[in-house]
Amino acid sequence: MTTEIERTPGGAIIMNGAALRDDTVLRLRAEIESMGLGYPTVCLATVLVGDDKPSQIYVRTKHKKAAEAGMTSTHVGLAIDATQAEVEDTVRTLAADPSVHGILVQLPLPAHLDTEAVLDLVPAAKDVDGLTEASMGRLMRGRNGHVPCTPKGVMRLLERYEIPTVGKKAVVIGRSSLVGLPLAVLFARKGVDATVTLAHSRTTDLVEVCRDADIIVGAAGMARLITAAHVKPGATVIDVGVSRTESGIVGDVDFDSVQAVAGAITPMPGGTGPMTIACLLENTLEAARMLGAIPPAPATNKGR
Ligand code: NAD
Repeated sequence: MTTEIERTPGGAIIMNGAALRDDTVLRLRAEIESMGLGYPTVCLATVLVGDDKPSQIYVRTKHKKAAEAGMTSTHVGLAIDATQAEVEDTVRTLAADPSVHGILVQLPLPAHLDTEAVLDLVPAAKDVDGLTEASMGRLMRGRNGHVPCTPKGVMRLLERYEIPTVGKKAVVIGRSSLVGLPLAVLFARKGVDATVTLAHSRTTDLVEVCRDADIIVGAAGMARLITAAHVKPGATVIDVGVSRTESGIVGDVDFDSVQAVAGAITPMPGGTGPMTIACLLENTLEAARMLGAIPPAPATNKGR
């Protein structure tokens, strides 16, 4: 990755997720190519139920980036009125297919489907989204397994920009099992060693909670929730939220005001979104390793 650090007009470091994603894709490709011949091509499978446009775009991008990383991918699209049995059969088939290493069921599923029952069918090794009970349990227990992609991407950005975490105060806004909750666990892990506050919709006085933080992560899906008033001068501010407004896609962070006080900030777009895909591909390569389809990771790979 280019060593040149870009800054906002206010002087905050721009945590460029798109550039780090591109770097990650190249690294994964190099790792795959270095294995030589004789191994199966690493394969990501996606399942999408319905025709939600943003979900279709997310899935297409995942396939495009998988190809750039030297992987193959396969996609199963099901009608919006697909039955529980049809969706479960699809996942069962992919779970049993030895040529498929990672399975991603694009969420949310339509309301008539039981998401938990579908996720339960994804084997832990193929659970590249890290959302099944097995993966979440392993994360809690500090055992080897897939970490959910968005929280993992946030940690990768912090590592890349050498943002100190040990002994620092981190506030995560949002407590979903997709983003906020696993991210809080990652911050508290040995080696990361931050002191974490998990804020949510019932948190009173969010400004006061955030003002004390060295790192703030917005994962609430509330447009421009985090303003300069929330941010201690020099703090790192990471935007995960995505809100579709009349003026386009907006993050949880009011970038214009926050960049003037923050020490580092993610752009929106181009911050956490690309890193989610980068980490999905990292997890897919790791899945092939867990399944014994390809050799173990080189010693330099930090894994999770
Ligand atoms: P969710 O709706 O499941 O959870 C939102 C959380 O935010 C809840 O825990 C809620 O308590 C909290 N919250 C809501 N309003 C709040 C407020 N005013 N103050 C404090 N907390 C508040 O959403 P999710 O699946 O966790 O996703 C969160 C956001 O991140 C969404 O906008 C989603 O689109 C986005 N997202 C982005 C990426 C990415 O790659 N950048 C990936 C996944 C999700």
